[in-house]
Amino acid sequence: MHRCDMTQIFKFGGASLRDADDIRHLGHLMADFPGRPLVVVLSAMGKTTNALEALLDAARGNDEANYRERLENLRRDHLAIVGALFGSKASPVAQRVEALIAELDQHHRTLAKHARPFHYDQTIGFGELMSTTIVSAWLEASGIATRWQDARRLIVTDDCYQAANVDWAATTERLRELAWDDCRLLVTQGFLGGTQDGQTTTLGRGGSDYSAAILAHCLEAERVTMWKDVPGLFNADPRRFDNATQLEHISYAETIELAWHGAKVIHPKSLAPLQRKRIPLTVRSFKAPRTPGSTIDADPRHDGDVPIVILREAQILLTLYPRDFALMDEAHQHDILGHLVRVGVHASMIDSAAMRVSLCLDRPTGRLEALVEALSADYRVVRRNNLTLLTVRHPDDGLLEGLSAGRDCLAERRNADTAQRLFPGDQCPESWHLPT
Ligand code: ASP
Ligand code: MG
Repeated sequence: MHRCDMTQIFKFGGASLRDADDIRHLGHLMADFPGRPLVVVLSAMGKTTNALEALLDAARGNDEANYRERLENLRRDHLAIVGALFGSKASPVAQRVEALIAELDQHHRTLAKHARPFHYDQTIGFGELMSTTIVSAWLEASGIATRWQDARRLIVTDDCYQAANVDWAATTERLRELAWDDCRLLVTQGFLGGTQDGQTTTLGRGGSDYSAAILAHCLEAERVTMWKDVPGLFNADPRRFDNATQLEHISYAETIELAWHGAKVIHPKSLAPLQRKRIPLTVRSFKAPRTPGSTIDADPRHDGDVPIVILREAQILLTLYPRDFALMDEAHQHDILGHLVRVGVHASMIDSAAMRVSLCLDRPTGRLEALVEALSADYRVVRRNNLTLLTVRHPDDGLLEGLSAGRDCLAERRNADTAQRLFPGDQCPESWHLPT
């Protein structure tokens, strides 16, 4: 395989692709940034995927007027961007967008009777198909030799629709078969894959980060850069904490911990494929490309430098007491965890005592009701809603006490490197300050 430049992968998310100005900015960034990448992975523009989900519901609900209006909005918004970018030369790109909209419409007409996950995957990726069509044409028009690449023929998966599993060997093989010699920049869709026999699959919401990591892994890339609407990773969500500080450097293992505890930084599945090949990942600001960003790699030396704070809201606390006043021994704990596994609910914290187990669970879903019902056969279940789970990595006591002051701690768990406390949501502010 011939490599033209550094084997870097760039990924741009929907928040960096909202309008024509963003696409122009992307073009400048690609022209100016040192080290042109080999592959660019794109999400759908702005909130297009949400709009496609609503379109799907309208199609399946036989809500014809609503469906028509939503399809027309998608068409109009994308064509407006094409018009703004290409002006009098818009027609070839506009025709491709029109063709994608017609194909999407056709799919909805024929698939509404199929199972929803299949129908979902055959239609939800049109946001990515349109964004890559527009952006690759724009880059080409700006003088960057570009090739649009269909990710459905690149990332090979099983047929587990909406959460497809990657066939790593087959994907590596497909990438090897690609013609790299013409030095063109490959622009492809995040989020999408395809089965061996050509059905479209998706990797789960937010899966474009994962796509970039899959391609990097299989290509043995030197680096992945994810361009985001934040300048990097922070020790707390900068939208919620007025004095959060940026982390310059952090390890894969620490980042996986943060994602596990609910930090919305990078799609959690993206780290492992990079970690296995020791490919560094840099998160950078799309708006300020020259600022240093945050780098994630195998080096753990800076992980404990500052405490990292994660908030998880809309939590539910289920406290279980055995009806027969038995002790919460391993058999009972095994039984309780078995119920969680069966209904597919994740506990964000488990806190146990002699005659009680407390489970902190993510926001209510239909499955939660099934879980409570199943547990109620053997346990008295006390439920509290609307809680905020605070997780601190590398906690110091002053920080923990400062963040807890004036709030009732409903459950707590602590080990050598992580402390968690659960508070009533109505005692927690919208805007926080890290005590110093
Ligand atoms: N467009 C998809 C989503 O919004 C994938 C992504 O953005 O990563 O979930
Ligand atoms: Mg998206």
